[in-house]
Amino acid sequence: MSRPVLSFTQSGEASRQALTAARTLAAKLGTRLEAVVFDELLVDQAAELGAEAVHVIEHELLSDYAPEAYGESLRQLVEASGPAALVAAGTETGNEVTAHLAARADLPFVANCREVTPGDPWRVSRVRWGGSLFEEAEVQSDGPYLLSIAPHTVAAEPSPADPEVRAFRPDLGEELARTRVTGREEAAKGVTLTTAPVVVSGGRGVGSPEGFAVLEELAGMLGGAVGCSRVATNNGWRPHRDQVGQTGTRIAPELYIACGISGAIQHWVGCMASKKILAINTDPEANMVRKADYAVIGDLHEVLDAVVAELRGREA
Ligand code: FAD
Repeated sequence: MSRPVLSFTQSGEASRQALTAARTLAAKLGTRLEAVVFDELLVDQAAELGAEAVHVIEHELLSDYAPEAYGESLRQLVEASGPAALVAAGTETGNEVTAHLAARADLPFVANCREVTPGDPWRVSRVRWGGSLFEEAEVQSDGPYLLSIAPHTVAAEPSPADPEVRAFRPDLGEELARTRVTGREEAAKGVTLTTAPVVVSGGRGVGSPEGFAVLEELAGMLGGAVGCSRVATNNGWRPHRDQVGQTGTRIAPELYIACGISGAIQHWVGCMASKKILAINTDPEANMVRKADYAVIGDLHEVLDAVVAELRGREA
């Protein structure tokens, strides 16, 4: 039987996208998609995205995130199952674990791909510099090709399958638990920047920390989150976790409302995957206004006050 494509599957949209990319790669190679998970609750997600087999890795050392032990587990599974490629999500965890796998197996790893073309050599297009550069690269591997898929470069497309579920128990020693999770503090509760369907974001035009109150109110009314530009974080108006962009968070909400943000490339790469963008800006020539789906030209405080008053009126 031909060598399958394995997809290292975590929870979340980025892994759903990576599973879709892995399925496309499997089709190009004329083989099947299999998934590997560290949590059997993810079997359903893998099945929904077309995995024909799911390997569930089980071991006491893996009860919490342990990057070295995860990487070694994948190495042993790759050795045992001999896939053509292993595809992970280009998330922090996906990239960290696959890097451990690559180092342990002495294989090349290409991170943050958006397109993969098998051949001799394999060709990839990958995302660099937080999304402001697309790089073409060639890769040759004596073993499986190790790849991760940059989030939001592929749309997740369900293709339900009825996978065979196989348990895999790796041989792991305590020396692989050099990094242990000892506690977690949730920086943001409820709707977060990455999961919010609507993000109301403010830049220099907001003018002050207090100026964000109306953005907070609008975000609350829309079930969304507040984001910001780097000027807002540099000025100490907002915490860095709210920053959208190359050195902040990359997001893909249904609606991005950019208030007083010029749309510099470093900001744009963080919000360009939004389904719709509404710019509110005094400058009709601002980059954000030119690229947005909708724009309101005016002082953001006047515009937002009017929008919030209208929504309050509808709620009453
Ligand atoms: P400005 O560019 O000053 O734009 C302000 C906008 O507000 C203007 O368009 C203006 O017309 C409008 N405005 C002013 N007053 C009003 C008003 N009353 N009502 C309506 N509109 C008004 N930036 C990020 O955002 N995220 C990043 O992750 C990031 N990473 C970077 C990484 C590097 C290596 C570098 C060099 C830069 C990075 N930057 C990043 C900074 C980026 O280049 C811009 O400087 C920044 O995005 C500009 O923020 P801004 O749009 O809020 O401010």
